Amino acid sequence: MSGKSGHSSGNRMSKQITVSLSGDGVRTIPAGTPARETLGGKVAKLAIGVMIDGRPRDLSTSLEEDCSVTPILPDTEEGLDLLRHSTAHLLAHAVKRLFPEAQVTIGPVIDKGFFYDFKFDRGFVPEDLERIEAEMARIVAENHEVKREDWSRDDAVALFLSMGEEFKAEIIGGLPEATVGLYRQGDFVDLCRGPHVPATGRLGAFKLLSVAGAYWRGDERNPMLQRIYGTAWADRKSLEQHIARLEEAKRRDHRRLGKQLGLFSFHKEAPGSPFFHPDGALVYNLLVEYIRGLYRRYDYSEVITPQILDVDLWHRSGHYDNYRENMFFTSVEERDFAVKPMNCPTHCLMYSEELHSYRELPIRFADFGRLHRFERSGVVHGLTRVRSFCQDDAHIFCAPEQIQEEIRSVIAMIRHMNETFGFNETRVYLSTRPEKSIGSDEAWENAERALREVLASESVEFRLNAGDGAFYGPKIDFCVLDAVGREWQLSTVQLDFSLPERFDLGFVDTEGKQKRPVMIHRAVLGSLERFLGILIEHTAGALPLWLAPCQVRLVTVTDRQNEFADEVARRLRREGFRAKADLRNEKLGFKIREAQAAKIPVVAVIGDKEVEAGTVAPRLLGGEQVEPMTIDAFAVWLQERSRVGNGGVP
Ligand SMILES: [Zn+2]
Ligand SMILES: [Zn+2]
Repeated sequence: MSGKSGHSSGNRMSKQITVSLSGDGVRTIPAGTPARETLGGKVAKLAIGVMIDGRPRDLSTSLEEDCSVTPILPDTEEGLDLLRHSTAHLLAHAVKRLFPEAQVTIGPVIDKGFFYDFKFDRGFVPEDLERIEAEMARIVAENHEVKREDWSRDDAVALFLSMGEEFKAEIIGGLPEATVGLYRQGDFVDLCRGPHVPATGRLGAFKLLSVAGAYWRGDERNPMLQRIYGTAWADRKSLEQHIARLEEAKRRDHRRLGKQLGLFSFHKEAPGSPFFHPDGALVYNLLVEYIRGLYRRYDYSEVITPQILDVDLWHRSGHYDNYRENMFFTSVEERDFAVKPMNCPTHCLMYSEELHSYRELPIRFADFGRLHRFERSGVVHGLTRVRSFCQDDAHIFCAPEQIQEEIRSVIAMIRHMNETFGFNETRVYLSTRPEKSIGSDEAWENAERALREVLASESVEFRLNAGDGAFYGPKIDFCVLDAVGREWQLSTVQLDFSLPERFDLGFVDTEGKQKRPVMIHRAVLGSLERFLGILIEHTAGALPLWLAPCQVRLVTVTDRQNEFADEVARRLRREGFRAKADLRNEKLGFKIREAQAAKIPVVAVIGDKEVEAGTVAPRLLGGEQVEPMTIDAFAVWLQERSRVGNGGVP
């Protein structure tokens, strides 16, 4: 039994708090206990931080009130953020040691990595990155404790000014707080909210990737800074896998492959607007044809609508108020027009042409109309971010009770597409009402409920993107993972209770009453330009047989076989295949290598033996050699393999 004296000596220290620990129940501990002491055994060794009431904090944080504590382990989302953030500090630490004249600015975490911006007039070169990396490794080996210090803002400004860090001083001077957090590791100190790993020895699986120019505060009137990009992972193996993925992505870059395969080009006269060359246009049109096949199956009607429409229409549709920054405008005869960024309003005008009966619904208008959206020249990127494109766009006008069935059929189309192109891994996101939106609360609630219900009934697992819906309604985005594991959003289904109001659309129901139809915007491939860019990277340019611009190349050994090869090529073309004979007087090995570089799915070498027997021996791009067969058999063989829907991969 403790005496009164024991209490009086440390009254403040005796305050007890209740901490709930993940997987370890509830404990009562003295207030002021560092968070790390609540972690047990193995976890205490592995943890690099803690979540206190759901917020990331340092392991050393003193617990003062009742709270929940969960360890942050390196190989988790929070853990990786923490590692990358601490590695950015490590980078700055190393740079300051090697280049004391460089000034530090900011170093945020980005997707799968981090960067840090430095003011450094000579500019970093690749050899510098190697030296910096080696210095970072040294600081890791020195295993400095990373300590938080709280400073008054004014003292912190003075501290950084005394170190010649004008940018840092400017940042701190602009903060609203009176007290700021600084983190110190060895001879380096940086402004930071934290949290951080407890010591530099906890870092190590990192790599610096590149260096680029960036303006201070993103403004081109400000000084140019040097941005060093890096990546960091929980362990060596994950780092190596990531580096391999980056290299693979570089190898598959559609901008390089598109040029190599002669598919498309870009010209400064039309920024962000691709020019499709004959082979590229061929593939593009085959994609359109594939979608038209789905339209026949799912009962869509294709329409053609104007490119340039009166600005009044865009006021009416809400685009002018909500989407103006992304539109191109023009005027003639003192009338203002806009180039369409979307097809929707044109389809509303067509729907409103006549009074519809419930018997006609749903009406499904599909449109391959060319769209233009303004993207800043700094963000346009190959085919994946363009100003001029077309979508496999369609709008479904239906009765409210038909929504779920319509969405179900769109999901079936999307599944067909994913299978056709070999997108085996998919992710689905439900996006709800954004801040900037039109339409009533009730309409939004109904729309969101309808989407949730249909996803549940189709057993589609989804993640919620709260507040990420279109301004006119909630949406479901369907994403695919490509061969390198990158996620791309392709298909989308968006409900719209608003445009039918704005365009006063109606239909007559079973009792002869006027009702409002619901509008569904949907695309399966999305933008065809972007889809093609993604497909090129997914397939590394080796398009499936049904899509390949040239499906078969016949390669002769000497000119003795030219006549036969030419005849076979003609015969195949007559049957609808894209076949060519390479009759050039070049070495066989050279011709085969060239066909492989052009990613031609099927190459057949024609020698004397083939001419004599009247056969071809096809060889697939992957290297597989097929037994010789007659020309008739070859045509059947090609027919089977170029069918859309079996993936078309030979
Ligand atoms: Zn920090
Ligand atoms: Zn639309």
